[in-house]
Amino acid sequence: MKIAVPRMGNLSLIIKDMVQRFDLDYLETPPFTEQTMEIGAALAPEFACLPLKAVLGTFVGALAMGADTLVTGGGHGPCRFGYYGEIQRRILEREGHDFRMVVLEPPSVSLRAFHDSIRSVIPREQVGFGTLARELYLTLSKVLLLDMLDKRALQLRGLEVVAGSVDEALADAQEIVSRAFTRKELSAARKEGDARFREVEIEWDRPHLKVGLVGEIFVVLETFFNFDIEHWLGRRNVVVERSVTISDTCDPFHRNPVFGYPEHMVARMAKPYLSHEVGGDGLLTVGSSVIFARRGFDAVVHFLPFTCMPEVIAKGVLGRVSQELEMPVLSLSIDEQTGKAGVETRLEALLDLAWSNKAKSLHARAELQAVT
Ligand code: SF4
Repeated sequence: MKIAVPRMGNLSLIIKDMVQRFDLDYLETPPFTEQTMEIGAALAPEFACLPLKAVLGTFVGALAMGADTLVTGGGHGPCRFGYYGEIQRRILEREGHDFRMVVLEPPSVSLRAFHDSIRSVIPREQVGFGTLARELYLTLSKVLLLDMLDKRALQLRGLEVVAGSVDEALADAQEIVSRAFTRKELSAARKEGDARFREVEIEWDRPHLKVGLVGEIFVVLETFFNFDIEHWLGRRNVVVERSVTISDTCDPFHRNPVFGYPEHMVARMAKPYLSHEVGGDGLLTVGSSVIFARRGFDAVVHFLPFTCMPEVIAKGVLGRVSQELEMPVLSLSIDEQTGKAGVETRLEALLDLAWSNKAKSLHARAELQAVT
């Protein structure tokens, strides 16, 4: 069994960890390129959303390289994601590929379904339940650590004194964490990673903006589709925070440990604007935008794949969030035709607006202080 999985943010780091723990035969799925996008778009139904087309294109590459088992995520609710594993299987079989498709149900949806689906890849005869539960727990702990490192880098990149020093610290810390497997090793790796970040020189009082990133997880996490917005913003003195991470999506208790606001709180914040689940990350998009506004963020960037139903609903609501909470929100619809220059122009306009709002509010505050 030669396994391949879709690329999405830190997912590949998790898979590498599982490969070593369970001695799996794994093949790295090719990165997203214009060519893989063309292949995926040619095979998929025209109005399928971007993640299906993108992943399909790279799966074709993985099968050509010798993969025989494709593992993808499942889902439930109003979003189409739950059907995509099956649709991709049918399309690839129609193209004459011989392989097995395994759909992994996320632990946040049902622990039992997750356990049953993971047994298709890690059979009972090979790994007992106790070992499986322990090792998966450690894998999830490791992912949490990796996502926390990313969060730290996003907060610091816009304030670094030496360009690239945060990225160097992040790469070192990721390397340290990736070598840790036991609970004790992970705890030591966390401390070592923290120490590595403390070495980075930061200009804490540099004038900066705070921008929240929200939207559909695949586009928010994959640099090929969001044009590496995190670095783009970091180079422009922007402190960034994002509302979606792999760890939060996998957390079976819905606590969103990386974002820091559990699902019930996100839903409560979203309620005046959107009072029910719409599938995918739609409710999280609205709730986290409200949270960012209440925390005094200067702007929010919202990524949505073209034809993504949950995010289209969220987009319709975000206009009111922006108006009532006085925080600019830029929604960027991404598909295979989206150009980098157009996205960057709109982002530059957003930053100009955010700087101007900030200057106005600082001026108003200074005037108030002078009067009182
Ligand atoms: S969340 Fe949106 S883009 Fe993602 S699978 Fe669902 S409908 Fe498609």
